[in-house]
Amino acid sequence: MKFVSTRGRSEAVSFTEAVATGLAPDGGLYLPETLPSIGDQLNDWDGLGYRELCFEFFKLFATDISTDVLQGVINRAYDSFTNPDIAPLKKIGHNLHVLELFHGPTLAFKDFALQVLGELYQEQVLRTGKPITVLGATSGDTGSAAIHGLLDRKGMRIFILYPDGRVSPLQERQMTCTGAENVFPIAIKGTFDDGQRVIKELFEDQEYRLRHGLSAINSINLARILAQCVYYVYGWLRLPIESRQDVVFVVPTGNFGNVFAGYLAYKMGLPISNLRVATNQNDILHRFFTTGDYSMGDVCPSHAPSMDIQVASNFERFLYFHEQGNPTRIREAMQSFKTHGSIRFEDFESEVFSSSRVDDTEIVDIIRDVHQRYGYIADPHTACGFKNLDLSRPHVVLSTAHPAKFPDIVQVATGIEPISPVLESLKALEIKKFPLSAEVADIRTFIDERAGS
Ligand SMILES: *Cc1c(COP(=O)(O)O)cnc(C)c1O
Repeated sequence: MKFVSTRGRSEAVSFTEAVATGLAPDGGLYLPETLPSIGDQLNDWDGLGYRELCFEFFKLFATDISTDVLQGVINRAYDSFTNPDIAPLKKIGHNLHVLELFHGPTLAFKDFALQVLGELYQEQVLRTGKPITVLGATSGDTGSAAIHGLLDRKGMRIFILYPDGRVSPLQERQMTCTGAENVFPIAIKGTFDDGQRVIKELFEDQEYRLRHGLSAINSINLARILAQCVYYVYGWLRLPIESRQDVVFVVPTGNFGNVFAGYLAYKMGLPISNLRVATNQNDILHRFFTTGDYSMGDVCPSHAPSMDIQVASNFERFLYFHEQGNPTRIREAMQSFKTHGSIRFEDFESEVFSSSRVDDTEIVDIIRDVHQRYGYIADPHTACGFKNLDLSRPHVVLSTAHPAKFPDIVQVATGIEPISPVLESLKALEIKKFPLSAEVADIRTFIDERAGS
């Protein structure tokens, strides 16, 4: 199996190359050259455990990794999950299910992908003998999930920049209380955007990038998307047979990563009747799916901060399918977006998507309402998924974070303080962080001193 760039100007690469590179050299994102069809396999996969299913799924793509190695990667990746089902499907009402994706080490769905990516990077280090330095900026969830994917791994270190005082205390503890020698949480004096700018400059320095074996942690890595496809298949197979064909998956999303994985599973033949893109007030995707207008607005902080995004990086992968893989059209569209901040689609009609948007007041109301009606406590991201559901059809709402990650807002809405033992235990641990300025030179020196070379 080969992987091609959405922009059509880079060579097709193998799975391991696509994982190691992340972004294609022409600036595009990798996708499988042809999509395998899984429709016929679904019967055989019925009843498999999460790891077994994940292994069967990855086998279709990771054709340049031996099955023994792949098996090890998948098995170890999910060892740190605390629920035996990994992604339990819970029925909370008539035609209403929640697929809980928060039983990994950082209690958000990003663990599903970043634990696999950590294992794949580890294999890469063993195979090539070259160390990897992972570098990223975070506004919270991605950074902690990446850190926990790389904890104590040999030949790897991770530097995460986050805005000092602007991530939640729990998120900061998840990044800074690991006790791991290879983890460097850098609390910068500045914003998330300042962090992004520093990272971008460091990556643009080719010599520096090669010297430290720099690797990015963002949602563009193909392995992340593939790892996320698996829980759609798993959730589908956990539904009662009579609910499967007609099911609507509801996906709280910002970067279009999570919901794109569902779309890919659908394209491979998973019979999903509808994928619902659930946004918060940062609603570029909702506007796109209702009007065909994909245009950037200003990011406006919300109660669901991990969805406070106006440029959805994985949108380009969707565009690839929408334009039938025509790289010229994709390059033009992405150029238009870069220049004008918008892409306009005439007569846009979606085969499978629908969408919704909620503002902050609605998030609080929904958390309260879902609790009263179904006795279920949703975190503010998951809450975005419960808007205007037509429950004459079966629904699966993807739950992207544990409510205890956002205790204040959940308590306001329900009167209950959500608790997670994992988060409680963090409170006793020592914080290790490195306060620095948001100057490229300072960050560069810091990394030089610690990454070795
Ligand atoms: C990252 C994140 C999201 C959004 O994920 P996308 O990849 O943008 O779809 C939603 N909820 C939580 C809790 C997250 O951490």
